[in-house]
Amino acid sequence: MLCQKCETLITLVIVTKCRCEHFIHNSATEFSAASEANCFTCSYLWSLVQEHLEDSDPSPKHLHPSAREIPVSRVKFRLDEEMTLRMIWSTGEEWIHARFTAFPAGDPAFAMDRKVDVGTFSTSAQPDLWRQWLRTCMESHEKCREKQAQLRPFMPDRLIEVWEGETNKEYAWRLVRGCILGPVPYLTLSHCWGTAQPVRLMRGDDTYYHFHTASFLPKTYQDAFSVTLTLGFRYLWIDSLCIVQDDELDWKSQSSVMGSIYEHSACTIAATWARDGSEGCFIRREPSSINSAIIKLPSQEGQLIDHHMLAIDSYLDDVTSAPLNSRGWVTQERFLSRRQFNFSRKEVYWECDELIASEHFPKGVPDELWDLTTLNQDTTPGGHHSLDFEDKSKLRQAWSALVGQYSDCEFSRNSDKFIALTGLANKMRDATGDEYVAGLWRKDLHRQLCWVPDIDSRFRFDRFTATTYLAPTWSWANADGPVMYDLRYIARERRLALTCRSN
Ligand SMILES: [Zn+2]
Ligand SMILES: [Zn+2]
Repeated sequence: MLCQKCETLITLVIVTKCRCEHFIHNSATEFSAASEANCFTCSYLWSLVQEHLEDSDPSPKHLHPSAREIPVSRVKFRLDEEMTLRMIWSTGEEWIHARFTAFPAGDPAFAMDRKVDVGTFSTSAQPDLWRQWLRTCMESHEKCREKQAQLRPFMPDRLIEVWEGETNKEYAWRLVRGCILGPVPYLTLSHCWGTAQPVRLMRGDDTYYHFHTASFLPKTYQDAFSVTLTLGFRYLWIDSLCIVQDDELDWKSQSSVMGSIYEHSACTIAATWARDGSEGCFIRREPSSINSAIIKLPSQEGQLIDHHMLAIDSYLDDVTSAPLNSRGWVTQERFLSRRQFNFSRKEVYWECDELIASEHFPKGVPDELWDLTTLNQDTTPGGHHSLDFEDKSKLRQAWSALVGQYSDCEFSRNSDKFIALTGLANKMRDATGDEYVAGLWRKDLHRQLCWVPDIDSRFRFDRFTATTYLAPTWSWANADGPVMYDLRYIARERRLALTCRSN
């Protein structure tokens, strides 16, 4: 639903295509009341304002003091140049924007008329839909099938075997060695460890090779067992149980093949919204935040018809900015997984090379709702992250974009920075035949050196040069924080003049 003020103003702005600013709420009280009454647009912007205030540095250098004293002053609508409806919270000193768009109801391309089953955990929402996405990808996606056919044989050293326990809703599991199993299809879990250490496999610990119930495992693992069996699989790979955590030799050998483990997995289950293992894949969802609001707007023929109001950044909020995707190790897990289910806060998303879909858009998330900051979106039909390019220039740009994203991730140990990128570096080496030097590529070194620290973020997070030696100062890996590449140099083939000086 929409509050009366939003409904009236949205209709007015869209019908008249008026580019002026229209004030909706003039006080925080009025704004929060509309949010609490479940106005779709007000509650979406309200949640962004709350997140912003929680994340703000307590002594931000860039924020005027009045912005903190007056957390909310005015809320307004504006139609921008691309005719996107912007809802803006403004204090006069800073602005938070929410962008919305409207789709005609009943458009078969979007399958939007089915409401997401809310008030239930996402597990019971759409298992048929998950199976359908997986089956369609395996049977009909040409690019995904081609990629599968090119894989060389590989099996992880250890896998978890999962089956239904004797008591209702309890799963049974044990560890099995890959060499005994032979080639079997398996799934992988991508998750945040968080501050709570999950159950770990330690040296000399053979007990996990025997039958166990799942009740003492973190909720995320139990939910992943449920997804594994729902999708018709029996084997699953989870890092903390399939790598001996206190054995440096095992850790190094398994970490170096982590890329292959995810690449060969039939599908990755990503606990995208969860900050640690206790939160799980499945979440109880708020009806107001999931199902879109309906508003009557004129069709092209001028008749008033129902439209669905949607937040343009829902994929960005739900997936790209989710806790899991701020973790360094996850970059290659996501890049190298051929298929992935994202269990996010609001919806379950499917990602493969030919399709990005959601419960709202099971046949494909429309272009307008993709996160425009994601990588390689012009190269794969579904916008899935990938380094699969024939074109060397695109490959080079993809690596630079990857570095930009990767350098902004968090690492529990700075020394993991190179090892957590090994799978992707191997892939790049296979594709280019080039030599990898401290995170850069030798034949393209003159362009690869054109990185700069991301100044804004550096101020915010107070991160500069890494405290322990990891790479020479000319490598992006030496900067302890986000870096960005200047695409003027990366994208062009022209020669660059390079001057070297030594002190
Ligand atoms: Zn409203
Ligand atoms: Zn596919």
